[in-house]
Amino acid sequence: MAQEKNGTGLSDERLRVARDAPGFMPLDEAHALYAAAAACLSADDAVGVGVEIGTYCGKSTVFLGAAAQEHDALVVTVDHHRGSEEHQPGWEYHDAGLVDPHSGLLDTAARLRRTLFDADLEQTVLALVAPSTAAARVWGREVDFVFIDGGHSLEAAQNDYDGWARWVRRGGALLIHDVFPDPADGGRPPYEIYRRALESGRFTESAAHGSLRVLTRSG
Ligand code: SAH
Ligand code: MG
Repeated sequence: MAQEKNGTGLSDERLRVARDAPGFMPLDEAHALYAAAAACLSADDAVGVGVEIGTYCGKSTVFLGAAAQEHDALVVTVDHHRGSEEHQPGWEYHDAGLVDPHSGLLDTAARLRRTLFDADLEQTVLALVAPSTAAARVWGREVDFVFIDGGHSLEAAQNDYDGWARWVRRGGALLIHDVFPDPADGGRPPYEIYRRALESGRFTESAAHGSLRVLTRSG
């Protein structure tokens, strides 16, 4: 794999793999995600693990995985791989090519494996195929960052916040995607949990790129 840099932090080959993966992460926000993850994972008190909630086909995961590999860390990416509401048949973001003929249901797990194979990240990214609430029940360790990019219903977003924000180590980051302060720009639940994090007094905002917010755990 070509490892020359292109100004983004990723090799040209990894950038191509990320571009080709179906998904919902604009590349400029993905680069900001990479930088935030790398900063957390390179800290003196880093624990060497980051979590992503909402994998889909692994587009954002390539950026998190690249940052992790550079710091000898791991990323656990959680998804039931059945899609969110908006990915179901008849909805705006449905991709009929991602329906598994056996179950008749959306199944993004195989496409994720292709992404991880092509990006040479199978040793760095651990896919946890599970509802995020079930995964949270077995989790039990601090992490350097949690990136929340899962379901956008109020219940799903609140569950992700309740189940996962607590595991961010002090000085680590809670990263939230699809934060739209103006309801005209998009749904509110990610914005609601962003507000909850700030109002908890345990997180302070350290960066914003498009709809990505970087909140550092301060308390
Ligand atoms: N990060 C991805 C986009 C994720 S889309 C990218 O860069 O392209 C949101 C994902 O959240 C979907 O794949 C969906 O299956 C998953 N999801 C939604 N609700 C979930 C839940 N309760 N538990 C686990 N995964 C969930
Ligand atoms: Mg998103």
